[in-house]
Amino acid sequence: MHFDIFTLFPEVFTPYIAVSIIARARERGLAEIHLHNIRDWATDRHHVVDDEPYGGGGGMVMKPEPVFAAVESVLGSPPRAPVILLTPQGRLFTQAVARELAAFPRLALLCGRYEGVDERVRQHLVTDEISIGDYVLTGGELAALVVLDAVTRLLPGVLGDPDAPAKDSHANGLLEHPHYTRPPVFRGWEVPEVLRSGDHARIARWRHEQSLRRTWERRPDLLARAPLSEEDHALIARWEAERRADRG
Ligand code: SAM
Repeated sequence: MHFDIFTLFPEVFTPYIAVSIIARARERGLAEIHLHNIRDWATDRHHVVDDEPYGGGGGMVMKPEPVFAAVESVLGSPPRAPVILLTPQGRLFTQAVARELAAFPRLALLCGRYEGVDERVRQHLVTDEISIGDYVLTGGELAALVVLDAVTRLLPGVLGDPDAPAKDSHANGLLEHPHYTRPPVFRGWEVPEVLRSGDHARIARWRHEQSLRRTWERRPDLLARAPLSEEDHALIARWEAERRADRG
């Protein structure tokens, strides 16, 4: 996967992409990350990239010329890859969107700053808009890192355990089961006996039940879209009956 990141602050990315899974993915040629400073395409003497908003009001707006010039000089016109604007007004980023993006060979991520980009960038250059949540960040760099990280994990060969993404939270519509490691007893708190039993069928059942219960307790909204078996529905019905009985 080839990522082109357009930003006014490329230095934000450098330390994050130099460690752990993303660094290994780059070393092994599975992810190529190219950072482009939009300011390099500002043609005036002071490399100005922002200007006051038409209509007045506070804040500055990113000018269209350097953004168009940056994206088109790297990706051509029209751009030969999806151009994704990070914006709190975009569609919400989820694991399903990460999977969708991981199928492309190349992606461009465009980071806004100030009040955002001139609307003509959104209308005539950008092909997708993504928000990482219902809050406002100072710039699109953190959001681009979130997208870059979640997508890179899904690329074939990136994770040591190729089945890991399929077991993570949100992969199958449920939250993942709890994890434990050594020691078996810590401050008197024991690791559940089943996990130490060596009985793989029992462990798998316990993990699935924990995953289902966690989702039911913490994110019941996810259950409506999760593929549940008859046994899952029966378990949920039992927990709901127990909850009603507890509440009297
Ligand atoms: N004035 C804009 C608005 O109300 O929609 C917010 C601008 S924000 C201060 C500056 C930049 O941060 C945005 O252009 C966008 O690139 C990025 N940003 C902020 N919140 C974001 C979010 N939740 N998801 C993705 N990008 C975000």
